[in-house]
Amino acid sequence: MVKVDVKYTKLFINNEWVDAVSKKTFPTINPQDESVIAHVAEGDKADIDIAVAAAKKAFHRYSEWRKLDASQRGRLLLKLADLIERDLEYLGQLETLDNGKPVKQATGEAAWTAQIIRYYAGKADKILGNTIPADGEVLSMTLKEPVGVCGQILPWNYPIPMFVWKIAPALAAGCTIVLKPAEQTPLTALALAALVKEAGFPPGVVNVVPGYGPTAGAALTNHPDVDKIAFTGSTEVGRIIMSGASAVNLKRVTLELGGKSPLVIFNDADVEKAAEIAHGAVFANAGQSCVAATRTYVQSGIYDAFVAKAAEIAKKRTVGNSYTDVEQGPQIDEEMFSKVLNYIKSGKEQGARCVTGGERIGNVGYFIQPTVFADVKDDMKIAREEIFGPVQSILKFDTFDEAVDRANDTNYGLGAGVITNDITTALSFAKHVRAGSIWVNTYSVVATQTPFGGFKESGIGRELGEDGILQYLETKTLTISLPKQPAI
Ligand code: ADP
Repeated sequence: MVKVDVKYTKLFINNEWVDAVSKKTFPTINPQDESVIAHVAEGDKADIDIAVAAAKKAFHRYSEWRKLDASQRGRLLLKLADLIERDLEYLGQLETLDNGKPVKQATGEAAWTAQIIRYYAGKADKILGNTIPADGEVLSMTLKEPVGVCGQILPWNYPIPMFVWKIAPALAAGCTIVLKPAEQTPLTALALAALVKEAGFPPGVVNVVPGYGPTAGAALTNHPDVDKIAFTGSTEVGRIIMSGASAVNLKRVTLELGGKSPLVIFNDADVEKAAEIAHGAVFANAGQSCVAATRTYVQSGIYDAFVAKAAEIAKKRTVGNSYTDVEQGPQIDEEMFSKVLNYIKSGKEQGARCVTGGERIGNVGYFIQPTVFADVKDDMKIAREEIFGPVQSILKFDTFDEAVDRANDTNYGLGAGVITNDITTALSFAKHVRAGSIWVNTYSVVATQTPFGGFKESGIGRELGEDGILQYLETKTLTISLPKQPAI
């Protein structure tokens, strides 16, 4: 196993490294071998209170941060992007240690975040309001202003990208931040916090408080001095956050939640290409992706050939030591590992045909075989619930309308895909399916410049692109009375 130096394990508040008020720590576990990597300071309500006070002070109208020109906020972000690129290799290795994903993937994700930061750096001094031809003798305009102190709560599946998706637009907008990484993966958030300081952001602008959800997370969600909560995670916790956010004040919320996304493949598709796209759509990140296309609908004419091809590709998927050139590492932790194995068990019990996989790999670490189920029915648990693991469910359909109705028969609405060479089929599907991102003849292409988020119980609001920064801005309408015009 590669030796990675863990440099930061304390809370990051006011640009300082501090212990938790309680002095408590919690272990973070290496999912590849189940060993304890490090003990990290465990933030709770008292620490959140201190961090929010720091963020509030940094948001004061006379603070160093608020007095910076917008272009200077952009300059600081550009510096942060450079520092991430300088430390790419280290960040990738640290992510692999804590999260278990293949190091090449982790490094690639970190590299992408430098691009995202530069995108928002460019936006910092291009936040424009409108002038509006309002009724009456007035001049009216809108000003876009930062929302204020933002609480940001992250998941463990893409720790570096999630950190950056959250902080970059908020900082470009001029907000201040208290961020809680997931308890499974606190290490890269702390390493990134060190880079935020090195880039020159003033104290209190970004604070990072590791800890658990029901303690530190809830304290942040319920804090009266937090103006906005941005959360990525499960729909179950999203509901808790949404109600907590309205308990003591009325926080703005952005929620990016779960999914059970459909990928619909029509008879005219090239079976081999379609099976490759469908494979990537499910198995990327060991299936631990909210947008994973875990319902693969295949039209009856190519169904059998598709199932055979899907199984063949899944069998070849390389799973193992994430510091080597593998496609898949372990699941994040014992809890998710058991949950995924239970879903596999339920698929078998409910009569789906397991055509490959279905077991754990080895007896140390949370590795699971890439698993493909065929003949899945819409009411089976594996077709309805988010599995968050390397499990593909293949379902057969006959007609276009049936495919759209079944694709939409879910409480989720994050992503959807269609594979066909017929443009009217593709566009008609895109029009009728209810999801935030639709992919045609590809899947999971998430670009810096395009909005990402969900319909229905997959969330509220959008991240990335122009929409991403709008979530961190309030609109202020300014109306100026003008002298009455004399009659002529
Ligand atoms: P998962 O089920 O994939 O672990 P969760 O939605 O449980 O995802 O967790 C995502 C993030 O939400 C984590 O940072 C976690 O600590 C946090 N969280 C969990 N429960 C709560 C809660 N009650 N209040 C605030 N944050 C929470």
